[in-house]
Amino acid sequence: MIYLDNAASTPVHARVLEAMMPHLREAYGNPSSIHRSGREAARAVAAARARVAALVGAAPHEIALTSGGTESNNMAILGIARASPRSRVVTTQIEHEAVLEPCAQLESEGHAVTRVRAGRDGLVDPADIESAITADTSLVSVMAANNEVGTVQDIAAIAAICARRGVPLHTDAVQAAGKVPLDVARLGVSLMSISSHKINGPKGAGALYVRDGLRPAPVVRGGGQERGLRSGTENVAAIVGFGEACAMAAGQMAEDAARVASLRDALVAGVAERIPHSSLNGDAARRLPGNAHFAFLGVRGEDLIIKLDEHGIAASTGSACSVHTQKESHVLRAMGLGREEIDGSLRVTVGPQNTRAEIDETLETLVSCVAELRRVSPFRQKYGL
Ligand SMILES: *Cc1c(COP(=O)(O)O)cnc(C)c1O
Repeated sequence: MIYLDNAASTPVHARVLEAMMPHLREAYGNPSSIHRSGREAARAVAAARARVAALVGAAPHEIALTSGGTESNNMAILGIARASPRSRVVTTQIEHEAVLEPCAQLESEGHAVTRVRAGRDGLVDPADIESAITADTSLVSVMAANNEVGTVQDIAAIAAICARRGVPLHTDAVQAAGKVPLDVARLGVSLMSISSHKINGPKGAGALYVRDGLRPAPVVRGGGQERGLRSGTENVAAIVGFGEACAMAAGQMAEDAARVASLRDALVAGVAERIPHSSLNGDAARRLPGNAHFAFLGVRGEDLIIKLDEHGIAASTGSACSVHTQKESHVLRAMGLGREEIDGSLRVTVGPQNTRAEIDETLETLVSCVAELRRVSPFRQKYGL
């Protein structure tokens, strides 16, 4: 199989698995226990926390370990809004469902939500965030990089605006982490979500950076783990694997990004050259190194995914969630793409484990599959496909 759906999830790296194994076999103590086995588990969690913190330039005590990106986003958005006397949240129209849904929940609790637009290029204008902030804004939440079209937002500029207005900024950095440098202090963000399984770690682990002094209301209550921010016995093995994945990502980021971008660029250039009536969605430069998101006129993205799968190639139409529900992508719609461009979209996301030979084979397969689908397309005549 040629796996090119790295924005949906990534393979667990061999070193990550190796680091996890002892914690699934013999080191099974509860990190809250006083005995030796518990202390060993607590030490492993502390070491992993430090490695997660180092990836984003945070202090270890500013990292709350969670079950993943979805939980981190919920914790940040529900937690900050509910703890604040203010009652408006500002976010964007192109966020992941794990941001949009907690915002919708807040609306049902009486908060107001402003959803700022994105341009045709998939970029959010910081000036639009500035105009959306009111005196009663408790939180701004803007993703660092989009999971569908891969566009990378100017978080530092948005953070500067938020700081001036005295509003904390949360960023969903699940796609950006490990791919582009993220330093919480340099960016100026107050909260940041990251996830293990998007950076070659195991599923079921993630983190929320919470800047010193901020106190979101806990969503998951119980035994008081994670400084009371997120109760529940720690998923020790997954956390250790997440820590290893963060350390590896930090060490290889520049190298991996350059290689992954060159593979992606080869695919984008090949598609532009060999498939007429195709386009690249999202800003060409300000995007994640591994992301290519195409629109093929006259082809249904879902049909293309199935064809590619028959040839052993795993790709996606957009976010894993929207594929599952067959819903039109809210991201592409917010960007102002037409119905036919949205229908004909394909997301190919390259990871560090992919090879040039895989990209070459994918291009050949894509050329033949698009041609095959266009032969039976109802738009064949209309567009001269
Ligand atoms: C995958 C993803 C999430 C959800 O993370 P999980 O760890 O799968 O819960 C949230 N936001 C973005 C941008 C994502 O890509």
